[in-house]
Amino acid sequence: MTELRVTADNETCVTSSLCVFRLPQVFDQDAEGRVVVLDPNPPAELRRDLLRARRGCPTRSIRVEGEGVPQEEPLG
Ligand code: SF4
Repeated sequence: MTELRVTADNETCVTSSLCVFRLPQVFDQDAEGRVVVLDPNPPAELRRDLLRARRGCPTRSIRVEGEGVPQEEPLG
């Protein structure tokens, strides 16, 4: 199984909670509501949900990397 790497930019996060709602085992929020990555190497079976979370982030603050993971589509 391909290893996934997840990072999130809490500088651009606008505390929408969407990623936390979708994947609470991977994302959480700090006291100010900004994203925190709980699991930077989540299991490969979460790949589809991770890509949905990435796509659903209004500020494109989530990055998912790994073999065969498609590039993020640009905003706009
Ligand atoms: S979906 Fe994006 S903006 Fe919303 S909490 Fe997650 S990282 Fe922040």
